[in-house]
Amino acid sequence: MTLDPKDWPAFRKTAHAMLDASLDKMENAREGRVWTPVPKSLKAEINTPLPQGGISPEQMQAELESIMPYNPGNIHPRFFGWVNGAGAPSNILAEMAGAAMNANCGGRNHVGPVIEQQVIRWAAQIMGMPSETTGLISSGTSMATVTALKVARDKFQKDHPGAELVGYTGAQTHSCVRRAFDLLGIGKEALREIPCDENFEIRLDDLQAAIDKDRAEGKTPFAVIGTVGAVNVGAIDDLDGLADLCEKEGLWFHVDGAFGAAAILSETVAHRVKGLARVDSLAFDFHKWWQVNYEAGCVLIRDPYLHRLSFANRPEYLRHDEDGLAGGDFWAVDYGPELSRSFRALKVWTHLKTHGIDAIAEVVERNISQAQYLKARVEAEEKLELLAPVALNIVCFRYNFKYEPNEKNARIVVDLQESGLAAPSTTTIDHETAIRVNLTNHRTRESDLDMLVDAILEMGKELE
Ligand SMILES: *Cc1c(COP(=O)(O)O)cnc(C)c1O
Repeated sequence: MTLDPKDWPAFRKTAHAMLDASLDKMENAREGRVWTPVPKSLKAEINTPLPQGGISPEQMQAELESIMPYNPGNIHPRFFGWVNGAGAPSNILAEMAGAAMNANCGGRNHVGPVIEQQVIRWAAQIMGMPSETTGLISSGTSMATVTALKVARDKFQKDHPGAELVGYTGAQTHSCVRRAFDLLGIGKEALREIPCDENFEIRLDDLQAAIDKDRAEGKTPFAVIGTVGAVNVGAIDDLDGLADLCEKEGLWFHVDGAFGAAAILSETVAHRVKGLARVDSLAFDFHKWWQVNYEAGCVLIRDPYLHRLSFANRPEYLRHDEDGLAGGDFWAVDYGPELSRSFRALKVWTHLKTHGIDAIAEVVERNISQAQYLKARVEAEEKLELLAPVALNIVCFRYNFKYEPNEKNARIVVDLQESGLAAPSTTTIDHETAIRVNLTNHRTRESDLDMLVDAILEMGKELE
């Protein structure tokens, strides 16, 4: 017995029905509630004993359809929480082809590495990095950061054996950077958190002072991690300032551009992120502002030699041959920690080919101008108050309550999420709770923002 369908024509029919249900989900992304909590009854239905025998494809398809309403809601145009991409139906085609190919993209001689390398060449070109730049499509920015900082760590450990390495980043940096320091054995405490200025950008004078202090104490500064699009407020560090400093001090310059690197596509903001061309390594996500379906992150490394040196230590059974299936120029396992890897690059390739870079740039530009629109609406309302500058695509504000503003603004956000109308999130800015609206969604319209503001004003009035 194999696991292939006993009745292929029947399976084909079921698969087509599943495709229709999937397309319906995306075609109707604007309809209905943004987020619906998983009902207790569904949780109970899922909690079954280990299946001993199987069910029919038709039964399974019905079960799959029954869970589909309970995603996080990020395909809906009024999902404003954290930073999530909305995805695109074009990805469904790539996912189908990819599932059928079932390619392991850790290595060997097949079309997977060919497409992944093409996507990396495009990414390097977009960011202004050299054509020799190497990279991988990763699960996300977290993994891309670990990969990039391992290359940096290995370079400095080789050049300074036994040294105590320390790195630097701004106070607004995402937690994945500290986690990478931890995972790589550099130590969480070896990441210095440098204060930010009033625009939430890393302070270069404080950074220089911290480096000087560490050097004076006999430590070995090795890396500076800048941020393009800080997760709280969307701030953009001074990339040229950081690149100059890294050049002067001989430090590795890494940038977390998880969502913000997409700003390179924007006519209005690109000038602020042109410094991406100067990084030693960059981590960013295709699954956020680029709208590729989860997961699709990316790591780019300027120096292909150092990149390979850090990871290429293949044992005999993974030997590289000139010809045959064990051949092929590029094995991803020589450039990152994973051997078995899904064909994520196929989604990115399909996405970029289907839409073209101009359409993605238009989405980015529209979201940036929507953030300015929302900022203006907040400023025009007496009851609302902006809590941070709007540098990119994130607006942090609150309802101006006289008493318990933090509790009440948090209440508004939870009530909004549970109402199904919209899903912003919260953050804390200078000890104040902010309603945080992130715009990385190609389906969002200004009218969605009006709906959000109107609902907040109404809810705020009731809580006063
Ligand atoms: C989302 C995000 C990350 C983490 O990326 P994942 O793809 O979720 O691993 C890191 N930094 C910033 C600024 C982010 O927005």
